[in-house]
Parts: sequence; structure tokens; C-alpha cells
Amino acid sequence: MFLRIDRLQVEMPLPKEPDPVAAAAVQELMGGRFGEMTTLNTYMFQSFNFRQREKLRPFYALIANIATEELGHIELVGAAVNGLLNGMEPKGDMSKGEPSFAGMFSGAALKAHVAPGPHAGVVCADSLGNPWKGDYVFNSGNLILDLLHNFFLENGARTAKLRAYQLTTNPAARRMLGYLFTRGGVHAHAYALALEQLTGVDMKKMLPIPNLQPEQIPESRPFLEEGWHRRLYRFSSGDYDEIKAIWQGDALDGSGPLEVRDGPPEGGPQYDLDGSSEAFIPDYHPQEILEMAQKLYQKAKG
Ligand code: MN
Ligand code: MN
Repeated sequence: MFLRIDRLQVEMPLPKEPDPVAAAAVQELMGGRFGEMTTLNTYMFQSFNFRQREKLRPFYALIANIATEELGHIELVGAAVNGLLNGMEPKGDMSKGEPSFAGMFSGAALKAHVAPGPHAGVVCADSLGNPWKGDYVFNSGNLILDLLHNFFLENGARTAKLRAYQLTTNPAARRMLGYLFTRGGVHAHAYALALEQLTGVDMKKMLPIPNLQPEQIPESRPFLEEGWHRRLYRFSSGDYDEIKAIWQGDALDGSGPLEVRDGPPEGGPQYDLDGSSEAFIPDYHPQEILEMAQKLYQKAKG
């Protein structure tokens, strides 16, 4: 089961200006082939179908625990897309037929996240609006093959993040990408260590893939300085301690020993975003809704 904490996995300042083009680049990391929905669901289904859990517990714990971190990653990508769309309202006078988003998109910028239906926001799709697919999930039941796939997937995801980084210079988007790039490196390293335990093959010699050190990305540097690339978080109050049997040794950059932190990172606050005027046309009674929310809030406090 899962316990939910109403915080983002990392502190992420709200973007100052709407930037739908950056939001489109980040959207790929939600529902694209190498997005967070794919890493989340691959590890989640592998953990559901895992046989001989007791006998193979460190490997089960690793996959189940990383799946839980990925839950926080889809939340972070969702927040980033919404943050980048915050305050985006069409400009102009309705009676003159003016309101438009003209000038807010450059060229053929992707609009799936802006007009997916009644409400704009992050969608369970890639940057073209193609729905995320369950057949992106790979689960053979063969532990070595599954771990090998996970190793490949993390490096594919790292490549996709690098491409998203190159598609936008938005500082808020890039901060989140710097974080995810660092964490993707940790997961690739963790699966390499698991494969090394099982086969003796030193997979970490292949890393990093692509061959780009995290410190070459300026937005990753603050996370490296804080040691995020050396840490695996144990997303449980009492379980998955066995990941310590796999996550040990030295960081790939030689900056220090690997460590398992008990419990989730401190994280940062969720965004409190502006309302969307179109969502309430033609019966927008903001005061009424605020009063109702206030009453419920009082009730909840008892
Ligand atoms: Mn991830
Ligand atoms: Mn990952």
C-alpha cells in the first residue's frame, strides 16, 4: 500500500511566467515512451508479479522501492507542466472576437497539454498528445532480463531528459530536469549494481549513458553538491531495508560512499495555482465556491 505526502519530492520554485512551449517539452517526460509513466509502471508491475519474494528480497525491495520514487516523479512532472501553464489566459476583448493565445506559442509548438478537453494541464500522453501505452511496460518474469531492461530504460529516460533540456531554456523546467537527470543516474547505477550481484558483470563501467557527466548540466550541480547522486531513499517506514545490500560502494564520480536514507526526502511545497476563468464560463461565482470550500475546511478541522 502507499502513504501519500502532500509535498513535491524536491523544492521547485513556481515559474514566474507561463511558458507553454516549455510545458510541451516537459509533457514528453510524463507519457512518452521514456517518460515517468513508463518507469513507474514498469517497476510497479514487476513488483506486482514478482515471484519468490522472500528468497530474492533485496532485488524485490529495490524494484518496489524505486517504483515508489517514480510515483513522486510523475507528480513532479505534473506540477512542472501545470506551473509552466499557470496564468496562461487568452488576451483580448471577447466582444471583438479577440481573445487568443497568439504569440504564446512559437512555430509548431505542441498544444495537447493546453487543449486536451475542458481543462488545460498535464495529460497522460506524450508531447504530441498520443496516450501513454501500457505496452511500454516490460516484465518478463526473468529477474536478470527485467533488471537489464530497467538499466536500459533508465538510460533511455536519461537521454529523453537531455533532449527535453535542449528543447527549452526555461529555468524552472531545467531545474526539474536537473533533478530528474541526477535521480535517473542513481537508478541506472542501482540496477547496474543489482546485475553485478547476480552475474558478476561490472555494468557500471558502461555508465554514464549518454556519456555526459551530471556536472556538465549546470542545473544538476546543486543536487550533486548536496549528494543526491549518492543516495537512495527508502520510501517506507519499516520495509525495503534490504536495498542496503545492493546500494553500497562508491559514487561513480568518486565523491563519496553510496548511502541509503531512511524515509523520503524533505521535498518542497505543492503549487497553489491560479484559477482558470474558462473553466467556469458562463456561471462563474468565485465567492460562492470560496465560501463552500471554507465551510468544508472548518468541518474537516472539527
Ligand atoms: Mn523517474
Ligand atoms: Mn528512475
